[in-house]
Amino acid sequence: MIDLHTHTDESDGTLSPAALVEAARARGLRALGITDHDTLAGHDAAEPLVREAGLELVCGIEISTKLASLRGRSVHLLAYFPRSAPSDGFRAWLGELQEQRRDRNRRLAERLRSLGLDLELAEAEALGRSLTGRPHFARLLVKKGYVTDIRQAFHRYLAEDAPGYVERHEPAIEKAIERVREGGGFASLAHPVRLALREAGHEKAVIASLCEAGMQAIEVYHSDHAAADTERYLELARRYDLAVTGGSDFHGDAKPSVRLGRPRVGVEVLEALRARFG
Ligand code: AMP
Ligand code: ZN
Ligand code: FE
Ligand code: FE
Repeated sequence: MIDLHTHTDESDGTLSPAALVEAARARGLRALGITDHDTLAGHDAAEPLVREAGLELVCGIEISTKLASLRGRSVHLLAYFPRSAPSDGFRAWLGELQEQRRDRNRRLAERLRSLGLDLELAEAEALGRSLTGRPHFARLLVKKGYVTDIRQAFHRYLAEDAPGYVERHEPAIEKAIERVREGGGFASLAHPVRLALREAGHEKAVIASLCEAGMQAIEVYHSDHAAADTERYLELARRYDLAVTGGSDFHGDAKPSVRLGRPRVGVEVLEALRARFG
């Protein structure tokens, strides 16, 4: 079994890269894809550790992008680099994304202060490592007793329709797909079920337009997908000649209901990716 979608504490997961590698080994996984949000730091830290664990590491990342045709909604794009390490140009582009995130975080801290909360950006940053996001602000609000849990932190302050929300510049998904391909990777639409496209009646149109933009894969297996979703995405992958990816979206204790290696994804999924992109 393999798991191609996991997070470490370099983004918003709770396990360190070393602890995640150990957990994957203990679970008997053959391959592990570390796909932290907007950073390769977790993957880079895990790389020297996997050989000893008898595990294959797949280089990946999860990028937050904007989809104009969905009124600028935030869409998560997975990128994988099965052939060679991401190019220096790709890493430089990630640096720009991280700077834009830092700018948002500064404004977010100010906004929360203007709402009467006593907090500093450095306090949120201290809860994260290479990447600070709203989940770290949420943990800080819990820690300071302003809210009882993460859910309430988002509901009252951090969610898109809450008073503390501030915009972050996210790259257009088409641009991100282009950067990924230039950097030597391929892009996969992450947990498509979360976009609720089928309900809105334009699942096929959106997927077709992303194929047009150069997207080459879709995340068919994911912990949020019901059996019927998985079937439908498999069918769409066939129809649009998209490669298939899959994983749990494991975040450690930050999302305790999601377990590493669930749903089960067979090694043939990785073999097919290697045959196509490796
Ligand atoms: P950021 O990229 O810093 O804007 O933070 C986005 C992350 O916050 C997402 O990937 C989720 O993990 C988390 N998140 C967003 N909305 C919510 C919510 N309503 N409840 C809990 N977590 C959320
Ligand atoms: Zn996450
Ligand atoms: Fe995601
Ligand atoms: Fe994820």
